Amino acid sequence: MLDADVIVIGSGIGGLVTATQLAVKGIKVLVLEKYLIPGGSAGYFERNGYRFDVGASMIFGFGENGTTNLLTRALAAVGMKIETIPDDSQVHYHLPKGLDIKVDRHYETFIQALGDRFPEERVGIRKFYDACWEVFNCLNSIELLSLEEYKYLLRVFFQNPLACLGLVKYLPQNVGDVAKRYIRDPELLKFIDMECYIWSVMPADKTPMINAGMVFSDRHYGGINYPKGGVGRIGEVLAEGLEKFGSEIRYGVRVTEIIPKTEDGKIGVKLNDGTILTAKSVVSNATRWDTFDHLLKQESLPKSEERWRSRYQKSPSFLSLHLGVKAEAIDPKSACHHILLEDWQAMEKPHGTIFVSIPTLLDPSLAPEGHHIVHAFTPSWIEDWQNLSKSEYEQKKEEEAFKLIARLEQIFPHLNQHLDYMEVGTPKSHRRFLGRMDGTYGAIPTRKLMGLLGMPFNSTAIANLYCVGDSTFPAQGLNAVAFSGFACAHLIATTKF
Ligand SMILES: Cc1cc2nc3c(=O)[nH]c(=O)nc-3n(C[C@H](O)[C@H](O)[C@H](O)COP(=O)(O)OP(=O)(O)OC[C@H]3O[C@@H](n4cnc5c(N)ncnc54)[C@H](O)[C@@H]3O)c2cc1C
Repeated sequence: MLDADVIVIGSGIGGLVTATQLAVKGIKVLVLEKYLIPGGSAGYFERNGYRFDVGASMIFGFGENGTTNLLTRALAAVGMKIETIPDDSQVHYHLPKGLDIKVDRHYETFIQALGDRFPEERVGIRKFYDACWEVFNCLNSIELLSLEEYKYLLRVFFQNPLACLGLVKYLPQNVGDVAKRYIRDPELLKFIDMECYIWSVMPADKTPMINAGMVFSDRHYGGINYPKGGVGRIGEVLAEGLEKFGSEIRYGVRVTEIIPKTEDGKIGVKLNDGTILTAKSVVSNATRWDTFDHLLKQESLPKSEERWRSRYQKSPSFLSLHLGVKAEAIDPKSACHHILLEDWQAMEKPHGTIFVSIPTLLDPSLAPEGHHIVHAFTPSWIEDWQNLSKSEYEQKKEEEAFKLIARLEQIFPHLNQHLDYMEVGTPKSHRRFLGRMDGTYGAIPTRKLMGLLGMPFNSTAIANLYCVGDSTFPAQGLNAVAFSGFACAHLIATTKF
């Protein structure tokens, strides 16, 4: 048995980046993953010749330049690289009253298209998106590590004071306030809401400017790039890199408890077979709700977590349709990612906004020849799927799936007719397979907050226990959880070893 310095619970991208970053520093890590493969929400499953991404498929962080390309950097740190396929647009929006906008990879093309749709707002549009670039340029010029480690903060401040001051300015701000400074048109402001909602599941007023700076600019800088072989390759290749550096990952091992102080004075974890493993530090890649409510059974909730919970709540989960369709269903010139909404009032409602990814437009090897994958998902609360008998549950899945398919026919006529395979995942599936409480996508503010200032960092009130992943600063998304992983590993390596 490996004598680990650090135990990481879970092999989501946050957990794997923490583990690999520690391993390259010579620290021995043991990753314990309850599922059969790495990746968590960035994992995959195979059915009937299709390789479906579980969740993520609009991937940031694979750029070549700057410092915000954290997936490229995390892989390179362990001597690995993944071939990626550039997407020529981030997303194609199909919004109420025929508002049809494609976000081109090329910034000026996008700004021109949006300006053509809202000619009175050309100046405001540029000023708003340029403010996002200001944030991004600051982020992209500094090393992204732990904001909890003061020596790093001092170093980065002296190396690049202007960038740091720029970030301090935007840290407490939300997108809505900045957008309203420059834009008046209510429909355009709704569009900005949707620009935020598709990754923060929050309208602009509650979406931090720091995250928006990353998303709205990096899509034109590093671009959106799809990993060849599917999103699951990211976790697989990081896990390979981890083992190359002498650390270990074990699958099918569920941690049932975190033991804050073991008999030998260390911190430990209890596994589903009763084994207890100890280490100097434990990192939980489970959500903060799962970590504190399920894994720290004997502990009362620390005040810091209570405070966080008063500011943030669990976002809804998703109803996910994983479709295999005949190629005729999809226009080969279609964008890979689409957003569909017919009524602005429904944007935040369950089953309101539909998100669509067709990764086979970029990598046809994921489906049998002559077929595509269509992954369509929409926010959904677990409460709406509980207290149903098995047959009621199955019937509801089918009904809701066909309602979504009927709506999707506005973009892909005859989709139903070309259906070859369908797997429906509900919030219960997300909870079961991803080990996430209520299947939540992550943390959302309970009210308008001051930008990102309320998100917790990696350390916790429990000595030697850290959290990493999307319920920790800076929140959801693969590149964001990679940032959380870099920060967590840096903090542990500099303060514990
Ligand atoms: C439908 C959907 C679409 C998305 N689309 C995008 C997108 O296009 N682009 C993007 O960037 N992001 C997207 N995301 C978000 C992104 O996938 C997540 O933010 C990110 O993958 C979360 O990573 P994580 O490291 O926090 O943890 P997770 O991915 O949740 O991984 C945690 C891991 O810990 C394991 N685990 C939990 N508890 C235990 C335990 N007790 N013992 C052992 N193992 C345990 C789990 O099995 C899991 O493997 C999407 C998410 C979903 C659900």
